Amino acid sequence: MKKSQQLNLTCGRCEKPVKQKDAFCRNCGGLFSNDIFCVNHKSIQAEGVCVICSKPFCKKCGTDVNKIFLCDNHSDLEITEGMVRVFGSTDNVQVQFVKTCLEQAGYHPFLYSRLFNPAADKIAITAVRNYGKHPIEEQKVLVPFSELLTATKELKKHKFKEV
Ligand SMILES: [Zn+2]
Ligand SMILES: [Zn+2]
Ligand SMILES: [Zn+2]
Repeated sequence: MKKSQQLNLTCGRCEKPVKQKDAFCRNCGGLFSNDIFCVNHKSIQAEGVCVICSKPFCKKCGTDVNKIFLCDNHSDLEITEGMVRVFGSTDNVQVQFVKTCLEQAGYHPFLYSRLFNPAADKIAITAVRNYGKHPIEEQKVLVPFSELLTATKELKKHKFKEV
């Protein structure tokens, strides 16, 4: 193995760095191997790996959403900047509390504000450090894809309510 191959491995789909041992890209769900098959259709080659549940799916069972592969169960999730929304509220205190709670449980949450921009008629995303300059519609707590399923369970334990 040449040194350069070990150091600069990137995914052909999203161009983010990948680990040598990975069979798929954890950032976009792209597969690096042809002999991985759909978990629902064992004879059909997988198209990608869902970044949320880490299972391979064929074209029928999963889709690319903004170049990120998601299975049908997870294709409705809100993906932002390579992370996924686990909680959202207009209540700043609540959002901070959720973030702290997840941090204490060993997760890597990140706060985002979703700003409504009527001129462009689309949702603009700005980091929460700009809070105060803009009207806030919703603040959301994002986590890395691989943390979503367990982080959701963690929040259920605390019975947080989205407002
Ligand atoms: Zn990728
Ligand atoms: Zn999934
Ligand atoms: Zn399938």
